[in-house]
Amino acid sequence: MASKPSIIKAPRGMVDVMPPAIKIWQNIENTAREVFGTYGYSEIRTPILEDTSLFKRGVGESTSVVEKEMYSFTDQGDHDLSLRPEGTASVVRAYIESGMCNIDPLARYYYMGPMFRRERPQKGRQRQFYQIGCELLAAESPYADAEVISMAEHFLKRAGVSDLSLEINSIGCEACRPSFNSALVEYFVKFQGGLCDDCIRRLSKNPLRILDCKNNSCKEIVEKAPRFSAFWCDACVTHFSAVKQTLDGIGVSYVVNEQVVRGLDYYMRTAFEFTTTKLGAQNAVLAGGRYDGLVRGLGGPDVAGIGFAMGMERLVLLLQDSTKKDPVDDVVYFAVIGELAGRKALPVINLLRRDGIRVEWDYAAKSLKSQMRKAGKIEAGSVVIMGDDEITRGEVIVKNMKTGEQQNVRIKDLPFHFINIGG
Ligand SMILES: [Zn+2]
Ligand SMILES: [Zn+2]
Repeated sequence: MASKPSIIKAPRGMVDVMPPAIKIWQNIENTAREVFGTYGYSEIRTPILEDTSLFKRGVGESTSVVEKEMYSFTDQGDHDLSLRPEGTASVVRAYIESGMCNIDPLARYYYMGPMFRRERPQKGRQRQFYQIGCELLAAESPYADAEVISMAEHFLKRAGVSDLSLEINSIGCEACRPSFNSALVEYFVKFQGGLCDDCIRRLSKNPLRILDCKNNSCKEIVEKAPRFSAFWCDACVTHFSAVKQTLDGIGVSYVVNEQVVRGLDYYMRTAFEFTTTKLGAQNAVLAGGRYDGLVRGLGGPDVAGIGFAMGMERLVLLLQDSTKKDPVDDVVYFAVIGELAGRKALPVINLLRRDGIRVEWDYAAKSLKSQMRKAGKIEAGSVVIMGDDEITRGEVIVKNMKTGEQQNVRIKDLPFHFINIGG
């Protein structure tokens, strides 16, 4: 006799999202579609695999994401491919490749989908994780920064995230970042002994990244590091003041935090983060910023870009306790008793489904008691009881699960019965 086949598990750090948890995911996604739509954003879907060079150029070779966390491989045709570790580079590639960058440069896209980074899995952080993000292209105006930030806030509040605070910063531009970088290097060299290995490497490649190192001893050194505000060029100062004024004007409150930098190389000027204390320590739920050099860096025209992304897993953790258990009015459970009723059930059930009513039933006849238990378990709003006696009279019994009321309803009137309840 053959041995029992072994169980295959999902890869480490990759999890299934099963019902009923999927409901929260769908709610978040629906809220995103609804809110971003009102700001003129359209959904874009890009492949989850891209040429590895896209991320090397678009994210930055010296970032830890590209250095250590990408799932990269050479396919049978000798192409170097990577699972996308983030969304922006792909969206910008599509924007350039489609020609939209020349046809109609001002573009607003949102995306949602899985990203991949080979990190150590922990609560709220998976190797396959999901992000929702928005990208606004070819808008240089500081109004764009403020609008994107307020849209992010609008979304988070609508989704039900409470206890939010917004931190903003400007991380300068090509004109003023070099002098800030040299000041940082000069400062950090003095404390090299206390920096982690990653930061020692960053010291020569991208010292700005030391500012957002999570290592405790690095954090201490960062406390007293030079401040970017002392190095901003006039254009950066003007841009940042206009962003702040516009936020004030539309009632979005924020604090300026000079340690908010973005982890990816292409960011410049405005960087922002929404944080909440709801998950224990202060945690970012949404982060974004301006990336004016990226489109050009990926071979497109010299147009601006700004956007943000947020991790679904964290949002789900934040919202899972707050989601109220709504009574599920539109779920109808069919309890079928007897052989005749069993045969007659499916045509009636399908009649309701064609009217958009969600119906569940258990096929094989079981006792009424066990079927009622099942109806309770799936939180059905109503139970239709079909017995052989009722069927011969062309009727069913409909029980309202909230009030306990029962009534006889003619089968041909059944769809109207539920449409009236639902409507
Ligand atoms: Zn500048
Ligand atoms: Zn460090």
